Amino acid sequence: MRELYSKLCTLVFSSIILLSIIAASIYTVALIPQLMVLEWSTEWSNGKVTLNVIPQGDNSNETGDFKLLPFKWKITANFWINPSNKYGLPANSVIEAIITAANTWDSQTSFQVFQYMGITTRTAGKFDGYNVISWGSYRVGVIAVTYIWYIDDTIIETDTRLNTYYKWSLTGEPKKMDVQNIMTHEFGHWCGLDDLYDDSDYWLTMYGYASYGEIYKRTLGLGDILGLQANYGK
Ligand SMILES: [Zn+2]
Repeated sequence: MRELYSKLCTLVFSSIILLSIIAASIYTVALIPQLMVLEWSTEWSNGKVTLNVIPQGDNSNETGDFKLLPFKWKITANFWINPSNKYGLPANSVIEAIITAANTWDSQTSFQVFQYMGITTRTAGKFDGYNVISWGSYRVGVIAVTYIWYIDDTIIETDTRLNTYYKWSLTGEPKKMDVQNIMTHEFGHWCGLDDLYDDSDYWLTMYGYASYGEIYKRTLGLGDILGLQANYGK
């Protein structure tokens, strides 16, 4: 009798453990974030040159196009910057350019999408609980890459890596990528906006290609603002 009781106890105990394991795995599966990688290419990537029929003049205030990603931040995205670079760009100036890029979006909505937290030595591209912007190597043709970890329609971490394959500048110099220009576009992804590839969207910040010395994407066009406000309100 005692032996049977003991076996019964073992069985019950094992079942509880098994059920716990099953419950734990279901819980874990539900919480494992998905990753989306958004690469921003040059117009001549992979040996191919993309030809655009550039609309005459700056019509960025007229084009209302935008495309939403299937997720967005639902709380303020606290971000850290690793300003370490091999281009001789002063840390303070790098940080200022990136904060200005974030504020460009924040100034168009009442929701606070971004909050600068400080300098970090962490690098972008790792799911580590920190939203990090840093330089790092990546394949040719990609200027910058934004990593978005999300669960369902909620972003839980975003990192942006600026590709060290290219030279970088803070003043729109030729043959170099402009930090503020590129970061304004990448922060658009943080806001839940996708790239646009129609020629008519050329002047928008969320246009899918960028080039050396370009600075016009530092300012938002109508479509960029409408997209932001579709996610976060006016
Ligand atoms: Zn992009």
